Amino acid sequence: MPLLVTGTIGIDTVHTPTAKAEEVSGGSCAYFAAAAAFHHKPVRIVGAVGGDWPSDHAALLESIDGLCLEGLERRSESKTFAWGGRYFDNMNQRETLFTELGVLEEAPPVVPTSYRDSRLIFLANSHPSVQMDLLNKFPDRQLAVADTMDLWINIAREELLALFKEIDGLIINDSEAEQLTDVSNPITAARAIIDMGPSFVIVKKGEHGAVLVHEDGIAVVPAYPLDQDGVIDPTGAGDSFAGGFMGHIAAVGSNDFNSMQAGMAWGTVTASFTLGSFGLDGLVSTTQAELESRMSEFRTIARIW
Ligand code: AMP
Repeated sequence: MPLLVTGTIGIDTVHTPTAKAEEVSGGSCAYFAAAAAFHHKPVRIVGAVGGDWPSDHAALLESIDGLCLEGLERRSESKTFAWGGRYFDNMNQRETLFTELGVLEEAPPVVPTSYRDSRLIFLANSHPSVQMDLLNKFPDRQLAVADTMDLWINIAREELLALFKEIDGLIINDSEAEQLTDVSNPITAARAIIDMGPSFVIVKKGEHGAVLVHEDGIAVVPAYPLDQDGVIDPTGAGDSFAGGFMGHIAAVGSNDFNSMQAGMAWGTVTASFTLGSFGLDGLVSTTQAELESRMSEFRTIARIW
């Protein structure tokens, strides 16, 4: 099933309690694509960057096997999306220090004609209008899943609610699910979001794992257990989880409940590599064999009798 993603390709500045990384390669689309490419190739990217996009960021993305960058627009007169965030002591919570929308304030990127047969669409974090514009280009899609973020819930709620009526699934953080619904229980919040349109919702709970609420049932997955020194930078972990999840669905060619449950486990293991370094480095430096080996270890760790 051809897989396509749209979202941000960003320049990130990240502060953690012990370190700071400036202008590293990030963005929701970049993390998703790098993660999904472990599971399914090619991953088609639709996005835009400005003339200030660093050449080493371009080289990093180009080095990832399985990414199709035909839909990545380079706009020399524009500014690349940039984001800065700071993590609190427990590394579970963060605050956004700045968001510079840049290309996101301009016309949405053009979808190449060679992408027309895409069937699995992931709308990584971006302005809901950009997400909707892309979605409308794929009337024959099989599955459309989206992510969103506090900023869009705050400034584009109406557009987001309109998007919910068109998508099949939503992958969202527990705090964002609460922000959307005013309900802190993730199961009840997911059901309230299902009432807004999607037929399934995955609520991510950081180090406490994730839960899938679906019309065919509920599934949970724990987080991969990492020591404190294994968590260097959580940025992009959510996008990487989504990449592993959707990549698995594309690989098995099925989006039934069991495939989604397995996809959550692959998403968890894929995201665990993102946590180990700043930017895309954790994913880029991981081999397929390392991913598979951690997955077999996770199967043992998470087994229930
Ligand atoms: P995550 O940690 O999974 O929520 O993803 C963080 C990534 O999303 C960073 O690489 C940012 O560049 C990007 N990002 C941050 N804020 C936004 C936003 N409002 N819309 C789209 N992407 C964003």
